[in-house]
Order: sequence, then structure tokens, then C-alpha cells
Amino acid sequence: PERLELLGFPLDPVSLETALDLLSGWITAAPASGARTPHTVVTLNPEFIMQCRAGGPLTSEFAQAIGKADLVTADGVGIVWAARQLLNTEVPRAPGFDLTVGLMKRHGAELSVFFLGAKPGVAEAAAQKAHEQYGVRVAGVHNGYFGPDDDLRVAELVRDSGADLLLTAMGAARQEIFNEYWREVLNVPVMMGVGGVLDVLAG
Ligand code: UDP
Repeated sequence: PERLELLGFPLDPVSLETALDLLSGWITAAPASGARTPHTVVTLNPEFIMQCRAGGPLTSEFAQAIGKADLVTADGVGIVWAARQLLNTEVPRAPGFDLTVGLMKRHGAELSVFFLGAKPGVAEAAAQKAHEQYGVRVAGVHNGYFGPDDDLRVAELVRDSGADLLLTAMGAARQEIFNEYWREVLNVPVMMGVGGVLDVLAG
């Protein structure tokens, strides 16, 4: 479906199933080794738009990262409502949690996942649970509390992990900016900002 524009932000009116088909396609099309075409995924929230409009240190980088995303889905009812009011159109929901679990269910042991973000210990617990429940392979884990000096080290960790899917859970803005900034370095076919999803997976 054709990309929409909501308050200056891109929005792809795709269903969960269609979004999963797209992401699966990007993952399976990527060769196991060598150069893999990177894609970024943003699950849009009203909070993201408010944060960008409010201004602040990360505003323009955040808006640019959203603008450059390969797929922008409606994370929840807030965006669905806004699209109805402002664009007079029905946009399906494709939340980050459902995309994450959907990919894990579809690919199981074929999927290698890097869990990046949340407080120390949470990414490990989320990875353990995801492996037990869906059989996914754990490419790597790292918490989301590191300074700018460690950005490159973490990016290299992800790159060397060979992950098919990077789940970046470092809070709105920071996670989207990280994925976009390191897009060409990480060599991961699907990078998605997932907010609190690691905390939920960890249980
Ligand atoms: N988080 C992180 N590093 C940070 C800030 C947040 O890893 O510097 C993690 C936090 O532990 C949580 C996730 O990001 O697992 C989402 O955080 P929060 O709900 O505060 O962010 P929001 O998406 O609401 O901005």
C-alpha cells in the first residue's frame, strides 16, 4: 500500500500480516554471510510525534530517523485514531511487540536475534525466554545504558554477531537514532526500535 503522511511523518498503512511478510522477505533475501541490505523499522506512536514537535536536543535526528525508515507502522490506537481524524483513512495496527513475536514464531530456529537495550540483565532474560518459547537463536545481548563513547563498540558487537534481527529497546528517539546512524555498519537486514518489548519478553 502507498505510504501516507501524518503530521509530516511517514506512515505505511500495512496490516500486521503484510508487515511480517515484508520483514520476513528482507530477512530471507539477505545472504547468510557478506553484505546484507539493511532495513530500519519504526513503530510510530503519538509520543514520538509529540516529542519531535516539542523540540529538544534529539528532535531533528529523531524526525530524520523516522523519515528514513524503510517501514513505519502504527504501533497503537493513537496513530490509528489520528489517521482517521486527519487523513480520513483506516490504518491497521502493527505493534512492535506483535511484529517481534510474529517474526520469532514464523522463523523459529532460523532466526538469529540480537537483543539490545533495557536495564542490565533484562536483555539476557528476554533472550532466554525467546529462545525457550520460539526456538530463536541468540546472536547477542547488551543493555541499553551506555554512553556515546561506547556506541561504536556496541555497533561492532552487533555487526560481528551476524544477527538477522536487531531489537533495539533504548527508549523513543535513542533507539531509532541508533538504528539509523549505524545502519550501514551493522549489516543486519531488519533493525527495529521496540521500546519496552524486552521488558515484556523478560516477564
Ligand atoms: N532504556 C534504555 N536506555 C535508556 C533509556 C531507556 O535501555 O537510556 C530502555 C528501558 O530500560 C526500557 C526501554 O528502553 O526497557 C523503553 O524505555 P521507556 O519506556 O522509558 O522509553 P519510551 O519508549 O517510553 O521513550
